[in-house]
Amino acid sequence: MIVTKRKQLDEIAAYIDSYKKFFLIGCYECASLCGTGDEVAIMTLKDWLHKEGKSVTGWFIAKTGCQILGTKKEISAYRELIDEAECIMVLSCGAGTQTLVEFFDGKPVIPVNDTLFIGNMRRFRDFEERCRACGECFLAITGVCVVTLCPKSMLNGPCGGYKDGKCEVNKERKCAWIIAFSILERKNLVEKFYESLLGPKDWSKANSPRTLAREK
Ligand code: SF4
Ligand code: SF4
Repeated sequence: MIVTKRKQLDEIAAYIDSYKKFFLIGCYECASLCGTGDEVAIMTLKDWLHKEGKSVTGWFIAKTGCQILGTKKEISAYRELIDEAECIMVLSCGAGTQTLVEFFDGKPVIPVNDTLFIGNMRRFRDFEERCRACGECFLAITGVCVVTLCPKSMLNGPCGGYKDGKCEVNKERKCAWIIAFSILERKNLVEKFYESLLGPKDWSKANSPRTLAREK
């Protein structure tokens, strides 16, 4: 999932200073799981806007904010309420926000959240980055994503700096390769790992902006 965090209110306040009327748009996908795009997040923002002397003409939660065609279709039902607003505030990730930037040419579109990383929810609303979308997945060989969990993205084993199983860059964390080997051992894949030593990573596959047009 894409992990998001609501911006600090004083940062949001600076962006919306010159507007009075707002329409709010959330997202039912990752942002709802993060608590940054669901109904509770929208109501919290709405209450805060009222306290700041602003008004909200309406709100809705997109099924999948980053799905451009679907979101545009859903939004057409709110046209009048949106026309009344001076500014749109979006409670989704950066991709969902840009769906609305494209759609509302004549109005400012303000992101309420910061988009942090692709990760897993370990416990309720407790997230950890697990994938850097490197474009060339090695999980079959490494078991866990060492590209992400190792600060140096070491591909074929630990660097010389790990000590007592801890990472030299962040001593609070286990070395990513200690985690990787314990998983490979449990899955009987250590031998296979040694047979498949990885060459230099092709980072050009991670260059932005990337596109993908699937064959129909
Ligand atoms: S190897 Fe690349 S694609 Fe696979 S999980 Fe890690 S960052 Fe993501
Ligand atoms: S100690 Fe382990 S996790 Fe830390 S940088 Fe070195 S190989 Fe990567």
